[in-house]
Amino acid sequence: MGDLSVHFSKAEFTCRCCGELILDQQLIDALEQLRTLAGKPLRIHDGYRCPAHNQEVGGVTDSEHTRGLAADVEIPGLSLQEMYELVLQIPAFTRGGIGAYDGGFLHLDVRPHAARWARVRGQYVGIQHLVKQPLTLLAKVQTGSQPG
Ligand SMILES: [Zn+2]
Ligand SMILES: [Zn+2]
Repeated sequence: MGDLSVHFSKAEFTCRCCGELILDQQLIDALEQLRTLAGKPLRIHDGYRCPAHNQEVGGVTDSEHTRGLAADVEIPGLSLQEMYELVLQIPAFTRGGIGAYDGGFLHLDVRPHAARWARVRGQYVGIQHLVKQPLTLLAKVQTGSQPG
């Protein structure tokens, strides 16, 4: 039992530079759903970022991380594709932002419109560069880059 929700603790989401924390409940709820689907712990690389830290790590201006709407997540033992397919079962993420990173993690956010991208060797590209869209969802795919 975390101090934030059943499986998550504040310390996992605080800004890595200053310890500040802004977090949207929708994000935590969606991550709990992902945790349940995965059946094992998620590793949170980054949650909230204050604007200064966001800039320092090369995040886009106005990143969803600075609003408490985003987390960079890895599920140890799963490939990017496997993680992506689990995430696509969670409505709050499919109608929000999903980014695949060549560092082996997914950026997930609960912004109010869909955005998809991948980041490969520091460049933003279409998400299809790192993960394949499951056939049943092809009609809905959006590959425009709106990093967050
Ligand atoms: Zn900070
Ligand atoms: Zn991110």
